[in-house]
Formats: sequence, structure tokens, C-alpha cells
Amino acid sequence: AKHEGRNRYSFFEIGMDQALRLRKMVEEDLRGAIERSELELQYQPQFSADGRRIVGVEALVRWNHPVHGSVSPSAFIPVAEERGLISALGEWVLRQACRSARNWKGITVAVNVSPIQFRQKDFVSTVIRILDEERVDPTRVELELTEGVIVEDADAAENAMMDLRAAGLRFALDDFGTGYSSLIYLRRFAFDKIKIDRSFLESMETTGESAILVHSIVHLGRALGLTVTAEGVETAEQQRFLQAVGCHQVQGYLFCRPVSAEKIDELLGLVGED
Ligand code: C2E
Ligand code: CA
Ligand code: CA
Ligand code: CA
Repeated sequence: AKHEGRNRYSFFEIGMDQALRLRKMVEEDLRGAIERSELELQYQPQFSADGRRIVGVEALVRWNHPVHGSVSPSAFIPVAEERGLISALGEWVLRQACRSARNWKGITVAVNVSPIQFRQKDFVSTVIRILDEERVDPTRVELELTEGVIVEDADAAENAMMDLRAAGLRFALDDFGTGYSSLIYLRRFAFDKIKIDRSFLESMETTGESAILVHSIVHLGRALGLTVTAEGVETAEQQRFLQAVGCHQVQGYLFCRPVSAEKIDELLGLVGED
């Protein structure tokens, strides 16, 4: 047993070492990624409940690494957060999204904000300055926050949200239903929208309970006067259910995967067909 334990320990050590090396590499490469134009934004359309009309898009960052190819944001966002790179990355994302949004009249552009980015003292002024510099109507920009934003310092978060709301921006509570106290947050903080987490839809087909939960969340959101969006909609069955229970917006592979800004231009009919 002793021998086994030692083996496990050394295996663990090698695993840790590799993980650290991977991290270090990501960190070093990420620093230059913005300057080398390796980052790219894709946009996933959000549709009206019937799936016919595009009402908004969500910006999703991609990293086209010269050696490793496309790196998932789930892999590099946490590293950027740990290494103090998230604000620079977040500012780049917001500016880029604003530039694209200028072409797209009448729809919302949603941008994901990391809790660490949100907690920076100059977050509010930076957002307002970027929107101003890029000449984008703030009412068309929606910031997607997760509960993590609020948990650490609720008062500061509330103030920042109020200031940004006063400037015209809107807020969506992302991954709704996955945290502990979403209901409290909904009452206290001025969100405009909740996004039902994908995990509820994933299990909807297998258990009746998830369908009941989704139904309840939609009711709750509507009762509070919020827009309700379901993310990760993959089947026509899910879409029919969501529409039937009164969900306002749907987003997912069933309708469209995240695509380039040029593709969004096409989908919005902004480029002529030849
Ligand atoms: P999220 O904000 O919950 O974004 C939704 C994720 O679900 C995206 O993954 C999207 O591509 C994926 N998705 C959309 N429809 C479907 C579907 O029908 N089925 C399935 N299975 N997946 C679907 P992605 O682009 O890999 O992003 C992962 C996460 O990384 C995001 O989760 C968000 O938390 C974070 N992220 C992405 N871009 C940014 C960014 O610019 N800033 C920050 N701070 N975080 C970002
Ligand atoms: Ca999101
Ligand atoms: Ca989400
Ligand atoms: Ca998520």
C-alpha cells in the first residue's frame, strides 16, 4: 500500500508539473496575443421565441493560437483572470464588440464580463469611455454577469451597476439557476434579463423535473418583468417547449452557432446578394 501511495504521489506530481507548464505557456503567449491579433470575436445570434427574428448577439472570444490552433475561452479566461490579464482582454473584447455593433442597428450586443474585471475600480469609467470613443449607443450594449460578480462585494457591485445603468447599459444574469442565491440577487440588483443555464435544457429530455424547473424560472422572470433567454437550445422540441411556456428569447446551435462578424452582417441582410 505504501508503494502504491508513492507511485500515485509521483504521478500526481508529474500531472501538476504539466499543468503548471501548460499554464505558464498560456500566460506567456496570452500577453502578446492581443498585439499579434490572435484573438477574435465570434457572435452567436439570439432569436425571438419563434426562432424567426434575430434580436441580439452575444460576443464570444476565440484565441487562434499559432501552434495550438483554436483555444477555448474556458481554457484561457481563467488563466487571464489569475495572471492579471483579464482587464486588458475584456477591454479589447468590449471595443471590438462596439465596432461590430455599429453596423447592426436595432439589435443588442451582449458582452461577457469576468467578475475580476468587473471589480476593478476603474471598470465603470473604462466601459463608458470605450462606448464613447467607439460612438455606440449604450442602450444597445448588454453586459452578461454571473453571480460571482456580486458575491464578493455586493455594495460595490450594486453601485457599479447603478452607474452603468444610469449611462444606459443593460444587464443580463448569466448561467441563471446554477448559483446559490440567484433569487436574492434578482430582487436586489437591477438586471434586465436572465439567461437560463444550458444545464437545465441538457437534462430536460431525460427528466420531467428539469422541464418543471425551466417552466418555473420563466414564470418567475416574467413576473419580475425581466426578459428571459434560454441558452444552449439544440432541439426543436426544446424550442417548442420554451415558446409554449413563454420564454422570450432563444439561443443555441439549433438556430446558429457562434459565427464571424461578417456572417452576422449577412444574416441581418446588410450585404447584398449577387
Ligand atoms: P457562456 O457565457 O455561458 O457562453 C455560452 C457558451 O455556450 C459558449 O461557449 C457558446 O459557444 C456555447 N453554446 C452556445 N449554444 C450552444 C448549444 O446549443 N449547445 C452547446 N453545447 N453549447 C452552446 P464558448 O464560446 O466556448 O464560451 C465558454 C465560456 O467562456 C462562456 O460561457 C463565458 O463564460 C466565457 N467567455 C467567452 N467569451 C468571453 C469573453 O469575451 N469574456 C469573458 N469574461 N468570458 C468569456
Ligand atoms: Ca454568456
Ligand atoms: Ca451562459
Ligand atoms: Ca457558462
